[in-house]
Amino acid sequence: CLMELTILGCMGGYPTKDVGTTAYLLTSDDFKLLIDVGSNALLSLEHHLDPLDLDAVILTHYHADHIADLGVLQYTFQLKEPAVGKSKKILPIYGHVESEFFRLLEMPGVSEGIAYAPEETLELGPFRIRFLKTVHPVPCYALRIEEIATGKVFVFGADSAYLPAFVPFVKDADLFLADANLFNGNERHHAHMTAGEVGTLAEEAAVKQLILTHLPQKGTLSVLLDQAKEAAPSVSVTLAEKDRIITI
Ligand code: ZN
Repeated sequence: CLMELTILGCMGGYPTKDVGTTAYLLTSDDFKLLIDVGSNALLSLEHHLDPLDLDAVILTHYHADHIADLGVLQYTFQLKEPAVGKSKKILPIYGHVESEFFRLLEMPGVSEGIAYAPEETLELGPFRIRFLKTVHPVPCYALRIEEIATGKVFVFGADSAYLPAFVPFVKDADLFLADANLFNGNERHHAHMTAGEVGTLAEEAAVKQLILTHLPQKGTLSVLLDQAKEAAPSVSVTLAEKDRIITI
């Protein structure tokens, strides 16, 4: 087994300079899971695989920068011819039901909307997924994804303001991909975390690797990185970057 994360889009809020908003591909063996479907997700995905080869999609919440390409992904499944020897499948799309947007996941004959129960563990292909409700203006869930065969753990923090409950949730993760949309000086924001806050959580949770994402368009990213590193001296900290592939 080899769990791999591919960064398809990592900007917060809106895409810029050919880099889209939140979308990540997580693979293990032949299973391909798309996590959030932000702006430009589909074009980025095509550089790595045929979108029709996706096995499932999971959504953390329904803000536009996380679901902007959902409709065109569904149209791809509706309209695109499968490669020779492959058959068309119905795409399972997992989301929470605490929003009227859940209905968008269902497209008869194309995609199936599946509600996840955040208080329960979800087994999805090679993964075991647990949920943590984050602090955000709309209901949003962080994902703790364990590769069942190896016990390796990837945590996607989704969008969140500072939340101490992340420490046990992220504990000992091999990789924590976290919303560090804000520079230090903006602590206790209502929707996102500062680099320093994310670094503090990663250090307390003793994660092996921290990647900062949901990046701001304004400001110097090397400063953001330094602020997180300062708060997490024993963690390997880097910035998300489009098309970067990380073996977990
Ligand atoms: Zn959001």
